[in-house]
Amino acid sequence: MAYKKRHDGRKFDELREVEMKVGVVDSADGSAMFRIGRTKIIAAVYGPKLLHPQRLRETDKGVLRAYYRMLPFSVGDRKNPRPGRREIELSMVIKEALESSIFLEEFGNAVIDVHIYVVQADAGSRCASICAASLALANAGVPMKDVVASVSAGVVDGQVVLDLNYQEEAHEEGYVVDMPIAYVENLDKVTLLQMDGIATEEQVKEALKLGISGCKKIKEEMQKALRQKFA
Ligand code: ADP
Repeated sequence: MAYKKRHDGRKFDELREVEMKVGVVDSADGSAMFRIGRTKIIAAVYGPKLLHPQRLRETDKGVLRAYYRMLPFSVGDRKNPRPGRREIELSMVIKEALESSIFLEEFGNAVIDVHIYVVQADAGSRCASICAASLALANAGVPMKDVVASVSAGVVDGQVVLDLNYQEEAHEEGYVVDMPIAYVENLDKVTLLQMDGIATEEQVKEALKLGISGCKKIKEEMQKALRQKFA
């Protein structure tokens, strides 16, 4: 049985509704809210500031640190607030996805901290986190080569789709493949590519293409949100 109609009625290449707001946390140097469908993220940036302890400093470039956390009420069953293995790993993956777009060489001895909280999870939270973090970094005035846009693509029971929601991730017939992608358009560089599931080479290529086109659409919206903030 192939996947003929999406659970939420979207076209196969259609994103969920996106909403974003830049500057949502007064005490942060930069912050943003990013929502895609029911997945909602808040990111707050602190820095660049002098890194302590001194032994962690890098003289010729700044250090970026990312902390991805799921709030206890972000999923149906209460999430233990203690950071788990998944959150620690995703923090690293998110940091790496963001890093290449930042002019870190301008911030020797400094650190930029990005705190990311999943307020509500409905799949695609790592991708939405990258978008929220990138907006917050721009809001903090951190010089960047481009904003980093991110979305997942994948395969549900043989059909390549853009931006899986949780119902699709949990689809029980056939294989489900989830492929989170982050893309920096100005560098034409994919800075996050993961894959969960089994797919053919053709499906992987098609999903990657669809994911990149989704990132480009999201980037346009991110730029609109930033322009609105700085208008
Ligand atoms: P990602 O796709 O980046 O892994 P998710 O939003 O899927 O992010 O995941 C966060 C965690 O929350 C996962 O463990 C996932 O199983 C769970 N989760 C996501 N959406 C829901 C939901 N609607 N109901 C229950 N659990 C969910």
